[in-house]
Amino acid sequence: MKITFLGTGTSMGVPVAGGFRREELSHDPRNERTRCSVWIQVHGKSILIDAGPEFRIQSIRSRIKKIDHFLITHEHMDHVSGIDDLRVYSYINKAPIPAYTSGQCIESIHKRFDYMFGENKYPGSTSLDLNEVTSSFKLDEEIEVTPLPVQHGDLDILGFRVNDFSYLTDVKHIPDDTLELIKGSKVIALSALRWEPEHPTHLTIPEAVDVLENLDVPEAYLIHMNSYVDHQPTNKKLPDHIKLAYDQLSIKI
Ligand SMILES: [Zn+2]
Ligand SMILES: [Zn+2]
Repeated sequence: MKITFLGTGTSMGVPVAGGFRREELSHDPRNERTRCSVWIQVHGKSILIDAGPEFRIQSIRSRIKKIDHFLITHEHMDHVSGIDDLRVYSYINKAPIPAYTSGQCIESIHKRFDYMFGENKYPGSTSLDLNEVTSSFKLDEEIEVTPLPVQHGDLDILGFRVNDFSYLTDVKHIPDDTLELIKGSKVIALSALRWEPEHPTHLTIPEAVDVLENLDVPEAYLIHMNSYVDHQPTNKKLPDHIKLAYDQLSIKI
């Protein structure tokens, strides 16, 4: 299984529009973070989790030739605004792209992308086959996907476990039942916005490290960092098995 972090930045990206704080981060390409998304290649299938505003650029630089399945964590635009650019993959598939998310997120996507659905579908717009998921399902014999309910402030959203990889973005709280579903993962990606102060809808880095240490996962990556997080100095302060992810980092399980 190959996992490629297409984007690792918070909702505004890093650096933010206007270059805010750019001068305060080291000149390290790992401090350039597009919006969060991950690409999983497993058993010949290509699986995308989320598609943000830089999806087109991410797909070109990682040479994504096809998308067989699309998993959506939640409806915030930093995670879904790239849906429009998925259209080329529905042309390649010659069929709607199978997509999986919560019922609430499906409702929201119908509203936000109303031109893609129903009788008035705009010709050529992305075709998605949206499926509500509430428990584990198989994409084929060898790929098991488990939705991981988490809280993003007051919003109930999903992470996903794909075989031995768990991906959780925009997390503030992980309920105990979900912690059980994550256990046994070989690699986990978890969002961590900044060192401090606390945030109402996102874990900070120290909070995320706490969660990961309690989970006892052998290898973990932090994602969704903001423009106050400098890659190398931050990595040095983390426990050995926890690292910051960066755009285009690929790992194998
Ligand atoms: Zn986000
Ligand atoms: Zn969000």
